[in-house]
Amino acid sequence: MSSSMLACTADVAAQRTLSGYPREPLIKGLPKTIQSLCPECLKVIPADLFEENGKVMIQKTCPEHGECKDIYWGDAEMYLRNERWTYDTGYGLSNPNVTGEADCPNSCGLCGMHLNPTIMGNIDLTNRCNLSCPICFANANVTGYVYEPTLEQVARMLQLYRDERPVAGRIVQFSGGEPTLHPQFHEIIAMTRRMGFSHIQIATNGIIFNNLDFVRSCAGSTITPSGTSSASRSRTATSSRRSATSRSASPAGSPTRNGWRSALPCPI
Ligand code: SF4
Repeated sequence: MSSSMLACTADVAAQRTLSGYPREPLIKGLPKTIQSLCPECLKVIPADLFEENGKVMIQKTCPEHGECKDIYWGDAEMYLRNERWTYDTGYGLSNPNVTGEADCPNSCGLCGMHLNPTIMGNIDLTNRCNLSCPICFANANVTGYVYEPTLEQVARMLQLYRDERPVAGRIVQFSGGEPTLHPQFHEIIAMTRRMGFSHIQIATNGIIFNNLDFVRSCAGSTITPSGTSSASRSRTATSSRRSATSRSASPAGSPTRNGWRSALPCPI
């Protein structure tokens, strides 16, 4: 390939995602204007981000619902430090699930505008929970209906994720509500392992591990509780399946076969 062709390919690649959508570079630093949503009607509107008294504030005006100002990040210095790790250098998926006209975030799923592949897929197994925390971020138990995908529906979600290209999904977290309440929880974990996921994580409140029958039914699984200290949280974020296995504490006292890990993110 000639040098002029190389330059041309690089130029095109720099401006478009793998599926051909224009790449919008992320703007870093403060102040800046971003796209946001009206909290009332969810219409996409511009919003200003700026520093005020050491915090990052967001301010936006909906033509219909008026002005809204709120704290965006509680620590401006931390916000700017975290911006260094944003994934703004990727080129997205070559086979996005949503094709055609992209309208972020209304056509999310992922669409061709997305810049990075899925790093960790999150699948809610249920909105039921064995607790009723007043600060629940998932509104568990209070929506008035039960959301609980079937084994087949979870299989379709996982397959979609595994089929992502050029980077196949390999890290998944099951969440909720309380994901261990799903009636086919163990089948889902075994299926996920068979499909080739190398890191399976459970966002659980841990209550169910007081139930000896449940713990016995985990025989053959590796359970690594984490999230109870900063040290264990850091292990969750960084360890591979192999290191998780070698450090694991299994209530069932069993070696790994369908290895999975539990995280304890709920504020209890
Ligand atoms: S344990 Fe977690 S999911 Fe359950 S109600 Fe509390 S915060 Fe919500």
